[in-house]
Amino acid sequence: MDAQLEILLQIQDLKGQRRGLEEGRSERQVEEEAFNLRVDEALTGLDEKIDQVMEELDPGVRRRYDRLAGGIDRAVVPVINGVCYGCFVSVATSVASDPAERAKLRNCDHCGRFLYFLD
Ligand SMILES: [Zn+2]
Repeated sequence: MDAQLEILLQIQDLKGQRRGLEEGRSERQVEEEAFNLRVDEALTGLDEKIDQVMEELDPGVRRRYDRLAGGIDRAVVPVINGVCYGCFVSVATSVASDPAERAKLRNCDHCGRFLYFLD
């Protein structure tokens, strides 16, 4: 797998953890101060980690990612059975069936999300 893609997946995973924490918090009572503090700490830690990992992205990839991540919750999606799981439009067969093409960092022609190939 492309190294940049691995970083993108890591970022997405970290953001997912962050979202999970925030959702967990909104389900609890606000007066649970000790709990809130722990969540704040964890969120700060995650934000720092996300920033750190973002630094490892090539500038061009990062720009593309920032543009995408602003509007949607998942900027990196799998291709399963030749279909992009961001927009559910088929990826060109010439790409989906070629191992060399599959290994490259690419974006969906339709929705622009970063793609990774699963079988
Ligand atoms: Zn798509």
